[in-house]
Amino acid sequence: MRYAGDVKITFLGSGGAFTDFRQNYHNNALVETGAGPVLLDCGFTAAQSMRELGIHPGALSAVLFTHLHADHASPEQVIWERYYSGPHGFPEFKPTRLVAPGELLSPMKASLEHYIGIYSDPTGTVRDDGVDSLVQFEHTREVEIGGVRFQFFRVPHVHGNNIDKAAFGVKITEGNKTVMWSGDTTFSPDWVRRAADDPNVTQIFHECTFFPHFRGTVHTHWNELLTLPDDARSKLTLMHHTAVPDGVDIEAVADAARRHQIFEL
Ligand SMILES: [Zn+2]
Ligand SMILES: [Zn+2]
Repeated sequence: MRYAGDVKITFLGSGGAFTDFRQNYHNNALVETGAGPVLLDCGFTAAQSMRELGIHPGALSAVLFTHLHADHASPEQVIWERYYSGPHGFPEFKPTRLVAPGELLSPMKASLEHYIGIYSDPTGTVRDDGVDSLVQFEHTREVEIGGVRFQFFRVPHVHGNNIDKAAFGVKITEGNKTVMWSGDTTFSPDWVRRAADDPNVTQIFHECTFFPHFRGTVHTHWNELLTLPDDARSKLTLMHHTAVPDGVDIEAVADAARRHQIFEL
């Protein structure tokens, strides 16, 4: 049972970029708001996962992005489904609201120009203003949707050699409860410890990979999360891990998210 002021999150998937889709989907989630669900990251498996949940993309109030990788930022399918279909089979011609910091949305807009720029409108007229007609771009680091506040914060995902790819975590707040969402990030324990110490933070969803640490990794590894103190790990739910290998003591953290799992926090 969800109470007003709880944050409700449904995982479309908790898999990594190379997941076998018979096992899991990309690490995308629906956040319930008073204006309808917000899709937090939209990989190319999001539409299939929503179909299995019986949720048409037309129900979405907005799509938010943490960074530009295919398992997080492939919204073309959802944009077309909202425009050319509907829950009853008829086209509803709905535009899609895309929300993210400008560092992400500007290049995404330029890329989408070539995918959805040219289309056929409800009168059957072929037009070339698809990017402006099918999508509402909202460049921001903070937005409130249906009573839920989303605040983007920078994380280090692919960084080094004086290069730092734009990547963000998201702080999600409803009432006096806050849930942290790491996005894709290498291990950066400072904000995790601060969040763990904040009594309003009920959960920290953190990416995790169980692959052995290797040169060139851009993710957080299980053995790194184990270096966090007990009180921080007790608020940690793993995501982006695909599956927990046999022999891993998952009791060391709060949980590991599964495809279609619902959290009410
Ligand atoms: Zn990813
Ligand atoms: Zn990534």
